[in-house]
Amino acid sequence: MNLRIPGPTPCPPDVLDAVGGQMINHRGPEFAALLERLSSGLQPFFQTRQDVLLMTCSGTGGMEAAIVNTLSPGDRVLAVSIGAFGDRFAEIARLYGADVTVLEVEWGRAAEAEQVRAALRAGSDYRAVLVTHNETSTGVTNPLKEISDVVHAESDALLLVDAVSSLGSIPLVTDAWGVDVAVTASQKGWLVPPGLAMLAFSDRAWEASERATMPRFYLDARMHRDFAAKGQTPTTPVLPVLYGLDAALARMQQEGRDAIFERHARVAEHTRRGVKTLGLTLLAAEAVASDTVTAVRVPEGVDGKALSRVLRQERGTVIAGGQGKLAGKIFRIGHLGWVDEPDIDRALDALRATLPEVRSEEAVARA
Ligand SMILES: *Cc1c(COP(=O)(O)O)cnc(C)c1O
Repeated sequence: MNLRIPGPTPCPPDVLDAVGGQMINHRGPEFAALLERLSSGLQPFFQTRQDVLLMTCSGTGGMEAAIVNTLSPGDRVLAVSIGAFGDRFAEIARLYGADVTVLEVEWGRAAEAEQVRAALRAGSDYRAVLVTHNETSTGVTNPLKEISDVVHAESDALLLVDAVSSLGSIPLVTDAWGVDVAVTASQKGWLVPPGLAMLAFSDRAWEASERATMPRFYLDARMHRDFAAKGQTPTTPVLPVLYGLDAALARMQQEGRDAIFERHARVAEHTRRGVKTLGLTLLAAEAVASDTVTAVRVPEGVDGKALSRVLRQERGTVIAGGQGKLAGKIFRIGHLGWVDEPDIDRALDALRATLPEVRSEEAVARA
């Protein structure tokens, strides 16, 4: 199968071998050494001097951790949403009692720094700004550095960033860009199976964690930090994914961070060019199009559901559909993690063969 969805992504064979390793005592010395190796191995990819926290949960758990560890009920929050995951971040904050204002951007577009400035000026006393670095539902990357500059120039708000589908694949300079919490998840760009969220907290975020009163137990970052100092996690960790990450980081170090970023940019460009060559239209403008996932409009006369089904059943290719209001309107091709041009070429060949076979009912009726 050519699994071309934006997570979970395929894992290299050596990573899968590592994932199958025997269990160890998670309160013993081998685990302490593993935890230390992983946290320090992740720092160069996060571009942070902070310890990287490992939480056994999916990316959404990491987003929830970013909120509950830094905020209190009633806190004013500006949620910048450009798609389904931005909406999810806002919803988590709202459910925990934050006073959330949503800056909603049309799906398929990026948020502009000046829009964020205007929203910050229109409100007051924001304690946090929530931003999705790479919106997987629309295939758009926000100009995070520019947005961060505006957030810090205009306010004292913490910048909480969903970097689930960008960190490790697209440049994100956590410390230098003033990102207060950066969250990613194992099954996206990290060559490993799902089950692990990885987070970095700035000094300001750690200070906020002492004052925050949102309820938290499993996701309490202070508890994770204190246990990490003893070489442990508060509760039983997802050992197989951690074994896999150890092997994956060795691979990633060998390829090199900047080479990984360049490969993602190159493969994304290759994907967009190939899609256009098939006569298809991209959802996003190329200037903001994501280097980890490409969203493509389902062309007039094509049945989007049938397209996915025939690609999977007849051509061994799995693509993602649209989410929320884009369901049936777009399909998405994932190109993050363990991916190179030939994987995309096979997907494009499958698309070329399948498109003429999956005409919509209207198109058939008209013919
Ligand atoms: C995948 C993804 C998530 C959610 O991650 P889960 O691991 O499914 O909880 C959140 N945000 C973005 C941008 C994602 O791509």
